[in-house]
Amino acid sequence: MTTHAPQAAHTVTLPGSLDEAVAALTAMPAAVPVAGGTDLMAAVNSGLLRPAALVGLGRISEIRGWQYQDGHALLGAGLTHARMGRPDFAALIPALATAARAAGPPQIRNAGTLGGNIVTSAPTGDALPVLAALDAALVIVGPEGHREIPVSHLLAGVEMLRPGELVGFVRVPLLHAPQIFLKATGRTGPGRATASVAVVLDPARRNVRCAVGAVAPMPLRPLEAEAWVASLIDWDGVRGLAPEACAAFGEYVAAACIPEPPAPDEGGEPPSPLPPAALHLRRTVAILARRALGRALA
Ligand SMILES: Cc1cc2nc3c(=O)[nH]c(=O)nc-3n(C[C@H](O)[C@H](O)[C@H](O)COP(=O)(O)OP(=O)(O)OC[C@H]3O[C@@H](n4cnc5c(N)ncnc54)[C@H](O)[C@@H]3O)c2cc1C
Repeated sequence: MTTHAPQAAHTVTLPGSLDEAVAALTAMPAAVPVAGGTDLMAAVNSGLLRPAALVGLGRISEIRGWQYQDGHALLGAGLTHARMGRPDFAALIPALATAARAAGPPQIRNAGTLGGNIVTSAPTGDALPVLAALDAALVIVGPEGHREIPVSHLLAGVEMLRPGELVGFVRVPLLHAPQIFLKATGRTGPGRATASVAVVLDPARRNVRCAVGAVAPMPLRPLEAEAWVASLIDWDGVRGLAPEACAAFGEYVAAACIPEPPAPDEGGEPPSPLPPAALHLRRTVAILARRALGRALA
């Protein structure tokens, strides 16, 4: 189906399947995919983007749900935040459901999708630290078929979407263990994250995975802090930790993500201290990480 929306784009195509969407993008290299439009239309309205044509993904039912596959959930890129926030999804991937419930006001959650959140790759994208902590992968569909890449590769710009390609699905391991997402916004009510933390327990591999969002262009993984805290946990016992250990984990995570300025060479100027805003952010991250770990182990 083709309609006309002169201010935004000359042509809007509404395919009914991923294959049709890939064919439409391949046939019109200047076309841009649009899902919920919450990011894309904001860019159009502010004059940052003038797409010649749009390929709407809203009628592709195969990407609006999820299925189980080999201990993983295969999440459709068209899942809205509102859908991911519901209890049945929360039972599956609790941290992603919490992040979805925190992603903006209801109008945004009803329209905004998982795929859009990933492809926009905004530092404040709430799903992103959760996907980074879960080591999620993207199933990308395109004219050459399917390929799979770690979500972190797209977020870091190590790999890009090629012409005609779409994010079709997100493959997330089902860990059946506690996982927590916490977000600070600096205001009451819905708002973009000033910092966010996802903590995921993986008892089968005896590891703790943590990702910090919004403090850098992509989620950061404090790998040394993860390994250190995992070594303290009695995985076969009660899995608890002393409050001091949780607090030390928070400090470790925060220092890894917002490091001190480098020490000077011998005889050089003393390092300038972190500016107050960075110190405040570091304290916020430390508190979020401490609380997230404490709740995951509670
Ligand atoms: C007022 C407001 C508040 C917001 N608050 C938050 C918040 O608190 N937390 C948060 O995380 N986000 C927030 N957002 C951002 C936004 O809602 C999310 O990033 C949303 O998930 C984007 O999804 P979408 O479907 O609307 O993407 P769209 O706007 O449709 O697309 C975004 C980009 O992704 C591309 N794209 C979309 N789907 C695909 C796909 N399947 N394959 C390839 N490319 C694709 C599009 O071409 C476009 O470049 C907010 C936005 C607004 C306007």
